[in-house]
Amino acid sequence: MVEELFIGEQTGHDIYHLFRVKRLALYIADKEGGDKQLVSLIAMLHEVEDQKLGLLSKERARRYLQEQGYEEEFIEKVLKNALNISYSKGNWELLDWEGKIVQDADRLDALGAIGIARAFATSAKLGKPLYDPRAPLDKDVSAIHHFYNKLFKLPKLMNTKTGKKLAQKRVRYMKSYLQRFLKEWNLEDLE
Ligand code: ADP
Repeated sequence: MVEELFIGEQTGHDIYHLFRVKRLALYIADKEGGDKQLVSLIAMLHEVEDQKLGLLSKERARRYLQEQGYEEEFIEKVLKNALNISYSKGNWELLDWEGKIVQDADRLDALGAIGIARAFATSAKLGKPLYDPRAPLDKDVSAIHHFYNKLFKLPKLMNTKTGKKLAQKRVRYMKSYLQRFLKEWNLEDLE
């Protein structure tokens, strides 16, 4: 059901983002415990929005879950968690353990090699450049600035031990990428 709604999404919020988040969340749940059915549904529905055009709406998701025969209380739990995962729009205090697991998985998909690709794609969509060496680092004016303003801060915000460890590993990779990026930017790779 969600697959057809995400066709054409260009910034890495596509169906494969949902699959990656789901697999990662199930891996974390395997290590740290949690209701896997709940984890799966929250992951697949975590881009549910009340309003955002083109993405799955809360009511459509609710109808789908009702058609599948889930109990009302369970459906409310899925939707409450799915709707509050978001970094920018979520109320993180409402998350249950399974929601916290999916939030870690979602944040992990913003890190590492895939996270780098997503940051450049999103930045382009927002009309921002790859990098602007003249802008202060605390201004979110380019993809590289976004690394500093949000992405490098994510390991500290992780809810689970497994998520934190993976986040640290992915940030280490991003920092080595950044070193290389700046080396080429400054033409220090010539010799
Ligand atoms: P959420 O979906 O949890 O609210 P965001 O929408 O902030 O999170 O981020 C989704 C993806 O878009 C992430 O990969 C993130 O790095 C990227 N992104 C968000 N804002 C920016 C930005 N200003 N510049 C570059 N990438 C961004």
